[in-house]
Amino acid sequence: MFALVDCNNFFVSCEKVFRPDLEERPIVVLSNNDSCVIARSNEAKLLGIPMGAPLFEIRHLIKAYNIETLSCNFELYSDISRRIMNVLQSLQKNVEIYSIDEAFLELDATINWAEEGDKIHHQILKYTGIPTSIGFGPTKTLAKLATSHAKTLGSSYYIDHTPPYHKFLKATSISKIWGVGAKLTKSFKQHGICNAYDLMTADPSWVRRNYNIVAERIVRELNGFSCLPLTLVQEQKKSLQLTRSFPHPIRDKENLKQIAARFGMRLGFKLRELSQKTSALTVYTQHSFSGDQSLFFQQHTVVLADSTNTTSVIIQQVQEIIENFFSPNTDYQKIGIIATDLREENLPHKHALFDSSKALSNKPNVDKVMDEINKRFGLGTIHPLSCAQSTEWVNKSHNKSPAYTTNWTNLVQVKAQ
Ligand SMILES: [Mg+2]
Repeated sequence: MFALVDCNNFFVSCEKVFRPDLEERPIVVLSNNDSCVIARSNEAKLLGIPMGAPLFEIRHLIKAYNIETLSCNFELYSDISRRIMNVLQSLQKNVEIYSIDEAFLELDATINWAEEGDKIHHQILKYTGIPTSIGFGPTKTLAKLATSHAKTLGSSYYIDHTPPYHKFLKATSISKIWGVGAKLTKSFKQHGICNAYDLMTADPSWVRRNYNIVAERIVRELNGFSCLPLTLVQEQKKSLQLTRSFPHPIRDKENLKQIAARFGMRLGFKLRELSQKTSALTVYTQHSFSGDQSLFFQQHTVVLADSTNTTSVIIQQVQEIIENFFSPNTDYQKIGIIATDLREENLPHKHALFDSSKALSNKPNVDKVMDEINKRFGLGTIHPLSCAQSTEWVNKSHNKSPAYTTNWTNLVQVKAQ
């Protein structure tokens, strides 16, 4: 049997853990630069705030209903996610971390799902303060479907393909099935397949002929045949990317180079954390020329002689790209840096004709010390001089909560009277 553990309104729930005053209030969490809604409390959902709504379109509702708007705090969310996954891994052997707020479990088919669901729900709530909904089923697709019903019907729910659940499957639109996107929904509906029951009873070979093997797998999974095993080992990342849109266009080359250096520092830190190195760096920008409203996209890649995760090397490379391709009188609106061709740190170098690794041999120690300090006191506590000093380009986050769980200076203070 499979289970899917899904955190309820995850980003909002993380905020509520440290702000009990937010309980039962309409809350929305906004994306970078406070631009769009990326999470809503149940109260905000009931007021009709759509997911992805731009802030300027819902200002009247925010005012009318006194909705709390919070800037996103991914440092907090990812730390709480890590704690939740730790709790799950302490309870179960087979855990697949599916996303920041979802994990699949594989369980013994004979377990009492309602008891197990209660146990998992209460343990996570006790150790992290986050409420969860847990769906069970003989396949991952059915467990995922059960989770969406668990959200409305209680903390746990079970669905399989047998007659007692047919009424339920008939009432479930195919768009709610995992893997059935908007395009597939439209096409299935044209063939009279409108709900989960219709798809379950469709001929799998017809589905394969008319669509593909992925769609056929969905049909088989709905019939209780497991085609999607648990992925216990996370696939190595193939690339890492950092992007940022600026609140105001940037025209100054040095300013842009400083921002690129800051991204370079974060990429180096992330690569070392993953024990990986990169062999190619790409810098891309989105810009307009002065007086021109149209947006242009520019992208340049440098292939490195040796793979690296040394911060100073990454910074030097991305700054060189900007030095070479910067154009004056240009309003830079967005920058992105991508590290590709990632490989494991301990694999031997792809040998370059002129090996520069000796010259850089003392740099890993500098990075190691920087990482230790930054991990302890927060990323950016110590950084190379080339990184942005000014904060004018930094996200507009008007209402960001503290990093309660990852920064000593942000610990919650409790006063007893
Ligand atoms: Mg969720």
